[in-house]
Amino acid sequence: MSLAEIQTRCAAACDNAGRDVTEINLIAVSKVQPNERVESILDEGHRSFGENKVQEAAGKWPAFRERYDGIKLHLIGPLQTNKVKQAMQLADAIHTVDRTKLANTIARHAQELGTCPDLFIQVNTGEEEQKAGVLPGDADAFIAEMRALDLPLQGLMCIPPVDEEPSLHFALLAKIATRNDLTGLSMGMSSDFEIAIALGATHIRVGSAIFGERVYG
Ligand SMILES: *Cc1c(COP(=O)(O)O)cnc(C)c1O
Repeated sequence: MSLAEIQTRCAAACDNAGRDVTEINLIAVSKVQPNERVESILDEGHRSFGENKVQEAAGKWPAFRERYDGIKLHLIGPLQTNKVKQAMQLADAIHTVDRTKLANTIARHAQELGTCPDLFIQVNTGEEEQKAGVLPGDADAFIAEMRALDLPLQGLMCIPPVDEEPSLHFALLAKIATRNDLTGLSMGMSSDFEIAIALGATHIRVGSAIFGERVYG
């Protein structure tokens, strides 16, 4: 696979869904990938990237930002409160806000920094024990809490259970977003981004299909 191939598949999925491809933000998930691979995607002109660890992002992206203009970095992994300030200084968007303490910490640092990344609430649509995210039944209340804190909430994010039909989870996420007047939907990865586009995704997070398999060393 390559970036161009994924862009083509993304455009085809938009066509099929009667959507405009400009509605889709393709996030190239670069976690664990060697710098040369990331650089080659940057050299192709792509600017939207995703990382799941603050520390890894901090080691990689400030240097890339010096060399390439217009980078948008999305943090898509679980976030600890003690890393919030660093995360906010590094990233343009955080997709994994999932609890009151985290929202409060972000709000406090937003005051202090005078700026705040775009925020998404992670919803644990599969209600999995080990997975982060607010439960679907708690989502409306948490959305209201984030709004009361005056945070720049853009939408919702989910990671469906690996062994389940993703469309049910994407549809559930879209339904929660619609009833709360949220337009951003961060959903869909290498194996299911076309389904996510059909169900309204605005942000798809694609790693291995662009970069190749991740090699954990
Ligand atoms: C790693 C990761 C992705 C990308 O996964 P691929 O299957 O390689 O496309 C997407 N979203 C999140 C939250 C991830 O951690």
